[in-house]
Amino acid sequence: MLKRVAAALLLATALAGTAPVVAQSPAPATAAPATPPKLIVAISVDQFSADLFGEYRQYYSGGLKRLTAEGAVFPRGYQSHAATETCPGHSTILTGSRPSRTGIIANNWFDLDAKREDKNIYCAEDETQPGSSSDKYEASPLHLKVPTLGGRMKAANPATRVVSVAGKDRAAIMMGGATADQVWWLGGPQGYVSYKGIATPPLVAKVNEVMAARLAQPNSGFELPPQCVAKDFPVQAGDRTVGTGRFARDAGDYKGFRISPEQDAMTLAFAAAAIESMQLGKQAQSDIISIGLSATDYVGHTYGTEGTESCIQVDRLDRELGAFFDRLDKDGIDYVVVLTADHGGHDLPERHRLNAMPMEQRVDMALTPKALNKTIADKAGLPGKKVIWSDGPAGDLYFDKGLTAAQRARVEAEALKYLRAHPQVQTVFTKAEIAATPSPSGPPESWSLIQEARASFYPARSGDLLLLLKPRVMSIPEQATMGSVATHGSPWDTDRRVPILFWRKGMQHFEQPLGVETVDILPTLAALIKLPVPQDQIDGRCLDLVAGNGDSCGK
Ligand SMILES: [Zn+2]
Repeated sequence: MLKRVAAALLLATALAGTAPVVAQSPAPATAAPATPPKLIVAISVDQFSADLFGEYRQYYSGGLKRLTAEGAVFPRGYQSHAATETCPGHSTILTGSRPSRTGIIANNWFDLDAKREDKNIYCAEDETQPGSSSDKYEASPLHLKVPTLGGRMKAANPATRVVSVAGKDRAAIMMGGATADQVWWLGGPQGYVSYKGIATPPLVAKVNEVMAARLAQPNSGFELPPQCVAKDFPVQAGDRTVGTGRFARDAGDYKGFRISPEQDAMTLAFAAAAIESMQLGKQAQSDIISIGLSATDYVGHTYGTEGTESCIQVDRLDRELGAFFDRLDKDGIDYVVVLTADHGGHDLPERHRLNAMPMEQRVDMALTPKALNKTIADKAGLPGKKVIWSDGPAGDLYFDKGLTAAQRARVEAEALKYLRAHPQVQTVFTKAEIAATPSPSGPPESWSLIQEARASFYPARSGDLLLLLKPRVMSIPEQATMGSVATHGSPWDTDRRVPILFWRKGMQHFEQPLGVETVDILPTLAALIKLPVPQDQIDGRCLDLVAGNGDSCGK
């Protein structure tokens, strides 16, 4: 406590030192307090690409308007690594560390030494539990190799309250970390759930009751905001038609609820209730809540990013965020907000083709795991054998452990030859090539692909090869029955670029269009609450949130 007061005084002194300069120019009408905020609100909007953020920016009227008009705006934030998926992305946001340090290289990776049939490992799975598999597992922060901001705050002061709520387990877990007090995610029609053995507190029971009541009501759909009208035309992708949805659903339709703005509204209501009932932001110390809003991602995968569906989703998100911030204001909480995304995204090829991108295509079925394995096995003279493990038509590839050294060398040579000649393949890196690359530094907008790959590289989990598709190739093949129509995960800027927005009451707005990284968020927030974080433990740097003179990084 004494330490905190001393630190606050130090900052006041530092600011006083700049007084003569400030006096020469008009001072801002209000100023952010020099004391640490009492609550950190860290929001990740899943698949909220910098493109999506920018496209609707002129229409924001709620929470996103507040953040962009009054806050520190970094429209060119980067999830700087190559594997732009949900789990790695969330692992960078509050750890200051890239996946090469967090260990979260993908949503799923392979452990070919695993003593079970399913060699695929889910990022938030506890595979030490008997019977665990990548799709039937007990959720766990086991794989996250570094502490989160909440974890560091708690280590410095055990009284700190650390709460994480999200639409997905991996979002809640990767942002909350191993020592969070409360970690909750949407587990199904029954509502929000936590780790096995955690009893449901009255607050969560109440939230789930409210959700059940809402689910039991049908939704007649959302009205089309004026900015969405031009997007209202059907697009055919395989057997699916998208582009004109309004999120109408029947009573009890959980899937319809989950893939709609209704989900985020529920998660934000939960977060607000948690803040209130746990009295977050009303303690001697600073507290932290992380909020994972997953609907934008579900909507993007299901309908693409440029139809009425995504347009309505962003509009509703803006409004719900506005209501959420208003509620915190009413409670008189001194809070700081950071809002970003775990990765970007891009639209389905079929609509791209209608919108001036005739070269957009879907990935060749020949690159999907089964087909690729057969091709390489045949070419290496090992027909019928399992030679290569992969989780999709791009990303990490692993050589089977049963191969002899000579067979493995043949498989590697044939795989490199075949893949590097494939017209949709940008490049294939070997594990040795990536390992030999130094950890990148400098502007994330000008990294090379192998530098991006290095930021995603964790030797014990990464593949023997990394396959990267060309831009304008959607990594979902054309199928008779289409599931998701669009996705992310590529090393290209559509999927790497995300907005990073900071806001605190009274701060002076500025915008910085140059590239920054999501790993910069932790040191930036840590500086605001005077929490020391050794630079050699993280990849990010503190961003000075004071426009003009003064420096929130305490330099
Ligand atoms: Zn996704």
